[in-house]
Amino acid sequence: MKYLLFVLLIIALLLLIALIKTLLIGSKKTFYQYSTDQKRIDLYSEKLSKLIQYETISYRDKPDVEKFRGFHKVIEKLYPNVFKHLEKIEIDGNLMMKWKGTDPNLDPIILISHQDVVEAGGDWIYPPFSGTIADGKVWGRGAGDIKVGIMSFYQAVEELLKEGYTPKCDVYLGSSCTEEIGGDGAPKMANWFKERGIKLYLLSDEGGSIVSNPLVGVDGNFAAIGIFEKGYGDLKIIAKSSGGHSSTPAKNSPIARLAKFITEIETKNPFKVEFSAAVDAMLTNLAPYSTNFMLKFVMSNLWLFKPLLKIVMPAISPHAAAMLQTTICFTMQKGSDGYNVIPQEAYVTANLRYIPHQSTDEANNIVKEIAKKYDLEVETIVAGYPSKPIDLEGEQYNMIVDTINKVFPGVGIMPYVVCGGTDSRFFAEVCDNCVRFAPVNYTPEQLKGMHGLNENIDQGCLPMAIDWYKELIKAQEKR
Ligand SMILES: [Zn+2]
Repeated sequence: MKYLLFVLLIIALLLLIALIKTLLIGSKKTFYQYSTDQKRIDLYSEKLSKLIQYETISYRDKPDVEKFRGFHKVIEKLYPNVFKHLEKIEIDGNLMMKWKGTDPNLDPIILISHQDVVEAGGDWIYPPFSGTIADGKVWGRGAGDIKVGIMSFYQAVEELLKEGYTPKCDVYLGSSCTEEIGGDGAPKMANWFKERGIKLYLLSDEGGSIVSNPLVGVDGNFAAIGIFEKGYGDLKIIAKSSGGHSSTPAKNSPIARLAKFITEIETKNPFKVEFSAAVDAMLTNLAPYSTNFMLKFVMSNLWLFKPLLKIVMPAISPHAAAMLQTTICFTMQKGSDGYNVIPQEAYVTANLRYIPHQSTDEANNIVKEIAKKYDLEVETIVAGYPSKPIDLEGEQYNMIVDTINKVFPGVGIMPYVVCGGTDSRFFAEVCDNCVRFAPVNYTPEQLKGMHGLNENIDQGCLPMAIDWYKELIKAQEKR
């Protein structure tokens, strides 16, 4: 009895501390407004439309360097001063522009955004390469992903040049032509720096953006800053047998073994669930903005509720699960070629996204061990590594946050995990501080449009995107 009372007292005390912490954290509201400068909005929309109108689909087996050289001419026409004053470096259709800074002792920065887009089949409201400007939006393939990036940082430099500005450090503008096919464009650009022994101070790429209402119970506009991206992997899991006629089947045929294997992986999550610094910071930063008291209570007290959240978060949302652990998804499969033939070999493929807290090799070995139980072989097709997280206490991250606060006063800051892939992962050897943040706004509908139908971007967010790149370049003066 005494013991029970003691435990209850401890629990009450912990909850009281948690309650006080929640009340001390206070309440915050975000503020975010589109630009009303119609002159700028029209100019930028027009330029983005021109970039969209030039089709830049990249194909895996059909590199077309000339097509991208044609695109460079479009960029040059739109940004003549950039091409007049900056050094052009072209590597097989991948384009870099070097803007010389005043202090040669400072490591350079690079702003990147890919030129290529994915295919645009299906039935669109406006033809995908029309670049139509209507309903307050610029429409077309690449509008959001991510010709808006090219438009914005070229425009930023164009305007700074007109103002007579010279940057303090060297500033590179980079754009690969193979991002959508995971090609060798970004590695070639990264290699260019490596060969010259150039270490980059900061890299800014797509990956995050301004998002609205990121969690149920957290309303408002937040700058989602991608601080690392997960590693990419593909495994092929193979089941072999001596085949035979399907009229006299033995137990444990190849497809049955694959099915048992898949069921085990799907039902018993084999990977380690962990809170990274990014997820920690994300939830802590969001806490004051929560309109739901219970949610706020939990987010303000991760010290107490983390063990509970580790169980709850993966169960409530696939996106939350993906931020806490390595994921595996079965994507392709093949059996025999006949309805009545037991396959001599059947396989499934699995796509994995590796989290830093469990190594790629360890994750693959877990899969292999489970496969062994069902007499399956595992072939590694690709085994990539997650990128190194940016230091949340470091000066580069703070510089990004300061620039966001300056251009978007009132938006919340939300570090987060990029579950997809970007070009920046290839720069790991030449840059320790790769930030994934496109300074534009996407609604959930617009996010679906990327790689989908009716891709578009709001015109009202364009001037701030240009301002953000200008401020980021100017922020180098403080180094
Ligand atoms: Zn992209």
